[in-house]
Amino acid sequence: MAENDLNRRIIERGSALFAAIADEKPALFNSATWTGRVMEWCLGNTGFKTSLLRFVDVFPVLTSHAQITDHIRQYFGDGQELPPVLARGARMAGMLGSVGGALLARAISANIREMARQFILAERPDELSDRLAALNRAGFAVALDVLGEATLSHAEAEQYLTTYLQLLELLSAEQSRWTTLPGLEEAPPVHLAVKPTAFFPLANPMDFEGSVSGILAPLRILAQQVVRAGAFLCIDMESHRFKGITLEVYRRLRAEFRDYPHIGIALQAYLRDSEDDLAGLLAWAEEQRTPIAVRLVKGAYWDYETVRAQQLGWPVPVRTVKADSDAAFERMAAVILKHHPICHLACASHNIRSIAAVLETARSLRVPESRYEFQMLYGMAEPVRRGIRAEAGRVRLYCPYGELVPGMGYLVRRLLENTANESFLRLTFKDQADVARLLHDPAEHAGQPASVMEAFAEEFRNEPAVDFTRSEVREAFPAAIATARSRSGQIVPLFINGRDVATTDRLASRNPNRPSEILGQVCQAGSAEVEQAVAAAAAAFPAWRAAPAAERAGCLRRVAALVREQIYEQAALQVLEIGKQWDQAHADVAEAIDFLEYYAAEMCRLAVPCAVGVVPGEENRLYREGRGVAVVIAPWNFPLAIACGMVSAALVTGNTVLFKPSGLTGVIGRRLVELFTAAGIPDGVLNFVPGRGSEIGDLLVDHPAVALIAFTGSLEVGQRIVRRAAPLHPGQRQFKRVIAELGGKNAVIIDDDADLDEAVPQVLASAFGFQGQKCSACSRVIVLEAIHDRFVERLVETARTWRLGPAESPAHAMGAVADEAAQRKILEYLAVGREEGRLLYESPVPEGEGYWVPLAIFGGIRPEHRLAREEIFGPVLAVLRAADFDQALAWANAVPFALTGGLFSRSPEHIARAGREFRVGNLYLNRAITGAMVGRQPFGGAGLSGLGTKAGGPEYLAHFMDQRVVTENTMRRGFAPAVS
Ligand code: NAD
Repeated sequence: MAENDLNRRIIERGSALFAAIADEKPALFNSATWTGRVMEWCLGNTGFKTSLLRFVDVFPVLTSHAQITDHIRQYFGDGQELPPVLARGARMAGMLGSVGGALLARAISANIREMARQFILAERPDELSDRLAALNRAGFAVALDVLGEATLSHAEAEQYLTTYLQLLELLSAEQSRWTTLPGLEEAPPVHLAVKPTAFFPLANPMDFEGSVSGILAPLRILAQQVVRAGAFLCIDMESHRFKGITLEVYRRLRAEFRDYPHIGIALQAYLRDSEDDLAGLLAWAEEQRTPIAVRLVKGAYWDYETVRAQQLGWPVPVRTVKADSDAAFERMAAVILKHHPICHLACASHNIRSIAAVLETARSLRVPESRYEFQMLYGMAEPVRRGIRAEAGRVRLYCPYGELVPGMGYLVRRLLENTANESFLRLTFKDQADVARLLHDPAEHAGQPASVMEAFAEEFRNEPAVDFTRSEVREAFPAAIATARSRSGQIVPLFINGRDVATTDRLASRNPNRPSEILGQVCQAGSAEVEQAVAAAAAAFPAWRAAPAAERAGCLRRVAALVREQIYEQAALQVLEIGKQWDQAHADVAEAIDFLEYYAAEMCRLAVPCAVGVVPGEENRLYREGRGVAVVIAPWNFPLAIACGMVSAALVTGNTVLFKPSGLTGVIGRRLVELFTAAGIPDGVLNFVPGRGSEIGDLLVDHPAVALIAFTGSLEVGQRIVRRAAPLHPGQRQFKRVIAELGGKNAVIIDDDADLDEAVPQVLASAFGFQGQKCSACSRVIVLEAIHDRFVERLVETARTWRLGPAESPAHAMGAVADEAAQRKILEYLAVGREEGRLLYESPVPEGEGYWVPLAIFGGIRPEHRLAREEIFGPVLAVLRAADFDQALAWANAVPFALTGGLFSRSPEHIARAGREFRVGNLYLNRAITGAMVGRQPFGGAGLSGLGTKAGGPEYLAHFMDQRVVTENTMRRGFAPAVS
């Protein structure tokens, strides 16, 4: 059939469907119900919509009426301002006092539950039987999907499987009560949909194979029962992050149960690569002679996918124009229908145009009716579902089942979907867009330029985060690690005045996970080499200071380009030399690139002499320039990024540098210097002087020719540097400036309304990522009494899933700590923790070589305990129980460190108050407290955590320069040039 002929028939079919349901409205838009009125308010008022979505989201954890009314007040204002729709539900406005408040809370709770019931079929098994029977009588088939909290622990994953197994048993017994529906004679009556990641809490694209097999193990158990019961199993597609894993799980499951056709997968038409995925799956099915089934949807995570991709610097994986998704849906449906002998289609859409397209395409291809069906979400688009049932005879309702409370996330998604401007249902039933427009061929609208990324065009952009969903990225790591290993063990010389300098004193740099593996023998500088390096740097200084800023910035940009080219090689070296996990290592290298590019751009901005104090007859120009010889002393924990940040800031501002890496990461330090050499840095401008802090640290700091010391490390060493840098030594011509970023004792507060699905994994990532060896790491978690036990239970259960082992395997969330000294110190603190508090969890540690310490969580810690005051710099987390928010905030601020902090809360007032009163250099609200991004979160602490210079921020470079103001009297004999 010609294409425009098909399109004409689709429009005719769609028009007929519209005509058949012309007088009906879905319950959601029925203003006689509370839900309908609330939806109406949402449509007219975006502020209300945001508040409502947030309120519905927090509602499940609010346990008392007082808490509910308090949140209503915070989200919607007090009684007078309360939107009538909320007040009317309670038949009262202005009643947030104690008695009225309780009534209001009760009324609103009832209304929200009613709203949830609109979308959720049943909460308990006994309700389920009757509702299913009723739907069957009304002529609808069903697919059941179990709602729940995010699966964080093995126990929660097991519960998910158990729930499905019980559900299957229940439905198998129930099905005898149902009549076979016309058109669905060949379809199994029992139909289950599952979320694959809920079976396995460790699912993570970095460990692709581990994730696939981890999901398959429990899923296989369910599949066996599904086959035995003759039911249907559909594997849902979740976020793009898990798409590759889900497709692979599906292929393997299909292959295992080759002869059983009723196992399907959902595909999302809104993904840009969905058509390729479909083609791949069909080719696989044909080659394997294995029938498959596809539930074709448009996709429910559009906002999430676009926001996340923009934050991580990735191309947006979803189509940004709605019509593009609609057009892709039609094309994909047509491809499946053409392959109907091997692929069954479930058309899951409420869009009448999409449905009509499937009906007409199937008719034109003469596809037997048993090879395609229609699915709709329970609680939505009731007129459409009735219309399609009348037209096609077979409609399956996708029914969420489970407790309303954990099901709220689902409810929020549905509300978002229904109130989106481009929602077909909204356009159809609320805005009453004209039928011709709604039935227009989406292919004719498709392909307009994306708008989402445009707003993001700025000069500096962060290096994109690593994307392990791409197989080439996953494969790059083992290869790069093997290469790095093959080059290990070499002698690493100093670099002074453009030449390698070898010394006989050497320090072996070891792999913490395998200390017998030596990455390099790093030559150590003594006093003679320090003198030589200082002399070289001092001699190179005048010319380097005089070089145009653009030239110095150009050098940084060339280094950034080189690092980017070698990103896997550089990351692999970190995996081996300091034991970073793949993602952590990649993030460190990406941050180094960011520092280089950000400081290059900043210097170009600062290099323009700025006019100050404009008055006629006088010109004032402010110049900034390098101070002289800078000593850069770096820690091991961000071996490339921090070193590179300090070195590049010192260089780009016109200083010459002596760089001393940590003794634990000398090989990485040397690589950094090689990159600058390759980028053409002149001789003497950057000198590499590795050495023991205790031996050459004082020599470097005391040297009279040194103008500036940039240090990142411990409070102990930082203090010493500040003290020693103060006195003037003979021959010294300027005061030394010290830039110091020091330790932390960072706290995260868990408010009584926190979202534990978020708080638990984020606290764990903040506390134990890279073995807790980050200055920003969470080492205290202060939990409000009301939520303490629930939080701690999930925290510990989730911590149990963390597997310890060498960092080079992506299956290990945690590896060995940096060296033997760190290991000893941490083990000592474990003993302290046992005395001061109660050990809640201590992980097993791997056998064999490696600087292993367990991941440990202590409860019952008080603010005066050592565990609550001293920086441990390892995977030890102290849990403090606070009576209320005031106390939590006071405890958080009670230590002299003030580096990072965090709060998980859904109370707008507490969030605002933390912003004002939680006094740390970097405060994070409702997210992890590590992973500051250059340019977005200028990083550094106050108190004893540092001198407040904020690396990666707009004022950082100023600390590396002196300012000079030149004032010229421009008046000559009474004439002054005009002031512009
Ligand atoms: P550290 O203080 O032991 O060592 C830092 C550097 O100082 C190393 O290069 C070391 O060799 C050198 N050093 C040691 N003694 C010296 C001396 N007497 N004079 C001069 N230099 C000397 O710290 P570390 O173990 O490498 O790093 C961990 C510490 O760094 C933690 O306290 C952590 O919180 C802190 N840190 C802070 C930040 C931040 O941005 N605030 C970032 C990373 C690490």
